[in-house]
Amino acid sequence: MEVIEQVSALRAIVAALRCGGKRIGFVPTMGALHEGHLQLLRASARENDITICSVFVNPTQFNNASDYKLYPRTLEQDTRLLQTVGCDYLFAPSAEEIYPQQSVLQFSFGALEAVMEGEHRPGHFNGVATVVSKLFHIVQPHRAYFGQKDLQQVAIVRQLVQGLSFDLELVCFPTVREADGLAMSSRNKRLSEAQRQLAPQLYLALQTAAANLHQKPINAIKSEVAQQLQQEEEIKLEYFEIVDSLTLQPLQDVSGHDEVALCIAAFVGEVRLIDNLLVNLKEI
Ligand code: AMP
Repeated sequence: MEVIEQVSALRAIVAALRCGGKRIGFVPTMGALHEGHLQLLRASARENDITICSVFVNPTQFNNASDYKLYPRTLEQDTRLLQTVGCDYLFAPSAEEIYPQQSVLQFSFGALEAVMEGEHRPGHFNGVATVVSKLFHIVQPHRAYFGQKDLQQVAIVRQLVQGLSFDLELVCFPTVREADGLAMSSRNKRLSEAQRQLAPQLYLALQTAAANLHQKPINAIKSEVAQQLQQEEEIKLEYFEIVDSLTLQPLQDVSGHDEVALCIAAFVGEVRLIDNLLVNLKEI
């Protein structure tokens, strides 16, 4: 595996690969890699001739300076892991390499960014759309791999790909969890041992809510989730929403919807975690 830090170097490699008819799979990440990332990389290695992974902690998508500063950075370990999953190129640029000038681009995603992560993290999806657009232009992948863990991000990127006519296929993989249900996340590394024990409560709350979807009105389910989590002093719920799985718009009533997504964001101590469950209402 080759490690590349310069945009110009990667552009030259990509040009030669495409010229040689190679199909390129791309997995954009912020590093501190775990099994959630690795499943995407394995899939890319299986389904494409060449796999490129980017590790870039993108400053423009952080609306909180300390979250950016404290985000885990483990490039050496990431490099070793990437060598085990068939990755051909690791692109690990500096912030200056990606943003030689401050970006002033503004994206708008309408209703899609007015809710949940978009509502609670102002500017977040603008930063995501900016960096994903830059990376897609540099890497020019045939396929790009994303995780359902960041459900709203997938919807935003899908709209970006359609809106800007990127010539690539988006591939989405389910959330990988720890044995106790906690969704794997690079931020889990920042949890204390006690907080780590509490963190699966988020997934438990999603499961309880899902089991009640046919039994109780949405408002009752939402207040039960809030009450359940309030019992833990270290957990501060930011939002819990039941939304249409495609539009991601919050629902007052699930009737008439085939599939809904249950989405949660909460602080466990100082660490902000998100999770979601897709529920097919015909199957429960
Ligand atoms: P990140 O490094 O957090 O920006 O994530 C890079 C990619 O990996 C994104 O598409 C995420 O949705 C995906 N991802 C992160 N955690 C998981 C997980 N636990 N399961 C599946 N995909 C994940």
